[in-house]
Amino acid sequence: MKPSELEMQAGGCVCKKVRYSLIGSPLRVTICHCTWCQRRTGSAFGVELVFHEDQVLFHPDTLSVYRHISDESGRWLDQHFCNNCGSSIGLTLESVPSIQSISVGTLDKQNWSELTNLERRHVFVRSARQWSDIPGDVEQYEEHFRN
Ligand SMILES: [Zn+2]
Ligand SMILES: [Zn+2]
Repeated sequence: MKPSELEMQAGGCVCKKVRYSLIGSPLRVTICHCTWCQRRTGSAFGVELVFHEDQVLFHPDTLSVYRHISDESGRWLDQHFCNNCGSSIGLTLESVPSIQSISVGTLDKQNWSELTNLERRHVFVRSARQWSDIPGDVEQYEEHFRN
């Protein structure tokens, strides 16, 4: 892996008004099958790169935040998005302080080699779509791994 790859990655939304830079590698990848992630992404699951908040620098022209209160835990989850094009950029969570996640599809370099070596966790598999095939040998949790 090239050192430059580790030092800085970038990404952003569809319309390019929200951009970010990443310093270093993500801590892990969380693949979340909860119904909230299904709705917020409009897809079958959310795929989030988990960073420490200090590793993520936003260029926040139009970065907006929607605060959702979990009906299960009562805690807040902030969805970061572009208020121009609506792209989902990432999340912060009351339950995991100092973490900023980045939605994997917003990375400029989808072939970032670092990602293939990261720890991957499938969470909330209890609500996974029937046709979302999860390999049997990956780390997976019925709910969250902290439970
Ligand atoms: Zn945008
Ligand atoms: Zn989720």
